[in-house]
Amino acid sequence: MSAKGQMEKKKIEATVDWRQLDWKEELKNNITSVDELKAYIDLSSEEEADLKEVVGAHPMNIPRYYLSLIDANDPADPIRRLCVPDIDELVVAGAMGETTGDPYGDDKHDKGNGILHKYPYTALVVGTEYCAMYCRHCFRKRMVGLPNEQTVKNFQGAAKYFAEHKELSNVLISGGDPFMLPTPTVKAMLDELKGLDHLNYVRVGSRAPVVYPIRFFDDELIEVLREFNQTKTLYVPTHFNHPDEITPVAAEAIMRLREAGITVNNQAVFLRGVNDNVETLVELMNKLLRIGVNPYYLYQCMPVSRVRHHFQVPLKEGVDIVDKARKQLDGYGKRFKFIIGHDIGKIEICGRIGDKLIMKQLHARPEHPEESSRMLVRQLTENGGWLDDLPEVEL
Ligand code: SF4
Repeated sequence: MSAKGQMEKKKIEATVDWRQLDWKEELKNNITSVDELKAYIDLSSEEEADLKEVVGAHPMNIPRYYLSLIDANDPADPIRRLCVPDIDELVVAGAMGETTGDPYGDDKHDKGNGILHKYPYTALVVGTEYCAMYCRHCFRKRMVGLPNEQTVKNFQGAAKYFAEHKELSNVLISGGDPFMLPTPTVKAMLDELKGLDHLNYVRVGSRAPVVYPIRFFDDELIEVLREFNQTKTLYVPTHFNHPDEITPVAAEAIMRLREAGITVNNQAVFLRGVNDNVETLVELMNKLLRIGVNPYYLYQCMPVSRVRHHFQVPLKEGVDIVDKARKQLDGYGKRFKFIIGHDIGKIEICGRIGDKLIMKQLHARPEHPEESSRMLVRQLTENGGWLDDLPEVEL
C-alpha cells in the first residue's frame, strides 16, 4: 500500500462486526484529524499542511465503518472523494463559477428556533448540526459540524409553530443528522408531532444508513420509529451516492427500517468523480431497488463554496449521462427526478432538445405561486452548471 520508505498504513479490520458495536461508543473512534487520517492514507507533507487548512474551514469526521469502504490504493476512489478532505476545497469559487454558502436560500426562510419554512406545505426543523460523517460535498457546509444559530433550541416551541400552521402537510426533521441524537430525544421530538392531525406524514432525513448503519442496530431506536409510524406515516429520506456504499451492513440497516414499516427514499447528488458516468448511475439505482430503497432525487451539485469547483458537472454533459442511464433502467429505476434545488424552488431537469435544456419547476416560493409547475427552457452552454448560467431562450 505505502510508497517505499513510508510507514505501513493501518487498516480497518475486515472482521469487525459493525452490527454488534455500541453506536455511541463507536462514534468516538471517528477519524477527525489529519494526523489520525495519515495513519490510514498516504499524504505528502505538503498535502498534510493543505488538508489541515481545509479541515479548519470544514471539519472532518469519518466513521471507521465508512473509511473501511475506501480502496486505499486508489487516490481517485469515489468513497474517498466523499469523505476525505481535498485541497480543491481551498478553492472557494473556481472553474464552474460563483458560489455561495446558502445555495438553497435557507436563510431567507428562517423562522428562528431551527425552523425553515420555504414552501407552504413543508417545514423543516434542524434537529442538530452534528452528522456521523461530514460529507465533503455537503450543501450545508456553512453550518454542519460548526456552532450555529440554526439548530432547534426548543422542540416544543417548534411543534407549536407547526400546530399553528395548518397549511403544512408534512414536517422534515433534518440537520445535520437527527439520528445522531440520543434515542429518547428522537422519541421526544416525534411525540410532539404525533397529535398534529393536519400533517399527512413526517420525515427524518438521515445519511446514517449510508455512512453509519451501526445506528440502526439499536433496537430501542427501531421500536421508537415503529411505534411512531403506527400513528403517523414516517419516511426516511437518505443519501446513497455510489453503489459501493450499498454494503451488506447498510442493506441490513435498511431492512430493519423497512421491517418497522418505514419507507426509505433516496436523494443522491450528481458529483464529479463519484457518480458522473452511466454505469455507476445505473448500478446505483438498481442496487437501491434491490435493498428496497426508492430512487427519488438526483440533485445537480449546488454552487456551494468550496464544493462547486471540483464536484459540479456541466449540465450539458450531465443531462446526457442521466438520459443514457435512464435508457438502461426499468420503470422503478428511472422514477428518480434530476433536480436543481434552486433558491426560487425545485426545478426538474426533463431533458434536452438539441442545445436547449427543458425543465419544469415543481415547487415555488409562496410569493411567486405562478412559478409553480411552469416549464423553463434555457440555452445549454459548454460549462454552465446552474440555472443562472444558462441564457433564457425560446423553444
Ligand atoms: S450527512 Fe448530510 S448534512 Fe451531514 S455532512 Fe453529509 S450531506 Fe451534509
